Amino acid sequence: MHDSPHEHQHGPMDLSVRVIRKASSGSNEWNRGQDPADWWQELVNRHGHVGPWNVLGYRMGRFVLRELGTSWGSHEYIVTAHIPACTPYSCILDGLAVATGNSEGRLDLLWSEVALPEFIHVSVRRASDRKLVLVFEPCAEYLKRISQGTVHDLERQSRECEKMPEEELFRVRWIEPRR
Ligand SMILES: [Zn+2]
Repeated sequence: MHDSPHEHQHGPMDLSVRVIRKASSGSNEWNRGQDPADWWQELVNRHGHVGPWNVLGYRMGRFVLRELGTSWGSHEYIVTAHIPACTPYSCILDGLAVATGNSEGRLDLLWSEVALPEFIHVSVRRASDRKLVLVFEPCAEYLKRISQGTVHDLERQSRECEKMPEEELFRVRWIEPRR
């Protein structure tokens, strides 16, 4: 037994970092952002180019809005990309940001490192109680498909990702029963 500040009274599920300010959910004075009219251009502005990893994150983010009944910029969910600490995997973060309005600065868009690409997933937790709601697992066949190419393939790969059915891009593991 030692006296590390994190040794006491933390249950196995207690992963909390800090509590998100309650006033920050929903549409209010803390949330005056607007869903971009042109998400593709928003990605270019933010990221410098649009690549398939951006669009993959964008598609996951839009799934969150649609299936969890939340709106852009309402900050009701914390989205975490669990990825190797390098590009192109990290490009997924900008797609998630543009799709949801979540941001690194508000601590509702996070990332954590995994050792291998096969461990990549994106988790979605409710901001109010930090309970895990669902996990996205990218399809291995799809990741293989976008693992090659040059800068000249980005546009084609991105447009392809925009149109592909969600089932071919990622699987969704619902932790809470689907509504
Ligand atoms: Zn990129």
